[in-house]
Amino acid sequence: MSFTQFNFSSQITENIRNCGYEQPTPIQEKAIPKVLSGSDLLGLAQTGTGKTAAFALPIIQRLSKGPRGKIRALVVAPTRELAEQINQTFLDLAEGTGLRTVTVYGGVGKGNQLQQFKRGVEIVVACPGRLLDHLNNRDVNLNKADILVLDEADQMFDMGFFPDIRRILKYLPKHRQTLLFSATMPADIRKLADETLTHPEEVRINLEQPLNLISQVLHPVTKPQKTALLLHLLNETTDGSTLVFTRTKYGAKNLAKKLMKTGYKATDLQGNMSQNQRQRALTGFRDGDFTILVATDIAARGIDVSLVGQVINFDLPSTAEAYTHRIGRTGRAKRSGRAISFVCHDDQPMIKAIERLQGKSIERLTITGFAMDKEVDQQHEPPKNTPRRNTKKKTHSSSHSPQQPHSKGKKKSTKPKTKHRPGNIFGLERGSK
Ligand code: AMP
Repeated sequence: MSFTQFNFSSQITENIRNCGYEQPTPIQEKAIPKVLSGSDLLGLAQTGTGKTAAFALPIIQRLSKGPRGKIRALVVAPTRELAEQINQTFLDLAEGTGLRTVTVYGGVGKGNQLQQFKRGVEIVVACPGRLLDHLNNRDVNLNKADILVLDEADQMFDMGFFPDIRRILKYLPKHRQTLLFSATMPADIRKLADETLTHPEEVRINLEQPLNLISQVLHPVTKPQKTALLLHLLNETTDGSTLVFTRTKYGAKNLAKKLMKTGYKATDLQGNMSQNQRQRALTGFRDGDFTILVATDIAARGIDVSLVGQVINFDLPSTAEAYTHRIGRTGRAKRSGRAISFVCHDDQPMIKAIERLQGKSIERLTITGFAMDKEVDQQHEPPKNTPRRNTKKKTHSSSHSPQQPHSKGKKKSTKPKTKHRPGNIFGLERGSK
């Protein structure tokens, strides 16, 4: 399968080549012809699948032909980072077409956004709150925006954006093409899809493959020993960068500080930071200026940083779905990745929920010097209706003591050796392909 089948313009074809895309990903293969034909689309897929180009390419092709100076496509996304990332994809793939884009989100001044509206743009990538603000002030006119993309709809729901989205819809033409993407399809998303889409084509992307490239392991540990265990693991890490997730903003900031003091090139990414600080952290992490990013769930979705070698859940997330999104930050673009989670006594119900969602158990690996006690394994039972897998505790010996995380010595790899059975991660794959 090749991109030539879509008959993109020569400029777009060149841009695809310049991006290094050799062939369409499965979602691009399925979605591009449908979007080009003007159909509404319901896409069940998460980031990491090539979803952004799956909607950006046909939108650019369609807009290349029409009038300029009016907003003709609106993409709504939950976070500023994702909006910037989507915008970058549009910039790369629309190079030389003359199409202009702008990102619109809060936390920064309005001046630049207003200026760009005045100059004229065809594509707007926005977070709901600030866009609504501009609409209420009549800064912007969407009555020619006949392509709407709602990206990461489930995260927008989780973040309480649906009332804003329903308000935004009133500013758009009734006859339009709407594309809605979501990684999961709970009832509320289905309801929004029913309200916004007309006879949609449905595209489901099997999530097995990305997650199968990720080896997962749980390290039982007591709370006070988490930092020492993290330092121990980082000391043994030789490849790629590390994304560490904490539960709280304060936790992320504090842990990043500790890592910096220990000599690591680390930074934090959390909601208490200004947009400029957030962007600096993310860009620095992407460019390799920081090898460790300590983040809250703000970075769990959408963010695409290739070469994230491992995700470490310093604290577990509050939902099993969030775990899937977090670990999806590694193993991207067909690379393998590692997901390590620290597990304390209180985390047992969440581990059970994660294993239930994945339909398989995750290997436990106790690292010498960091053993919690026997309870974690004794409490563990494989999820219902799942064949019992090897959940035996493996004791991992190490030459490092927790008190001396950086002592040099013969290192043993902490790479988990779990073999993964294909998992029906979100229960969405039935009927796909
Ligand atoms: P997304 O799911 O849109 O976040 O994309 C994930 C990553 O895949 C991004 O780094 C894209 O640049 C990359 N990508 C998208 N389409 C392709 C393709 N056809 N071939 C290779 N990489 C791609």
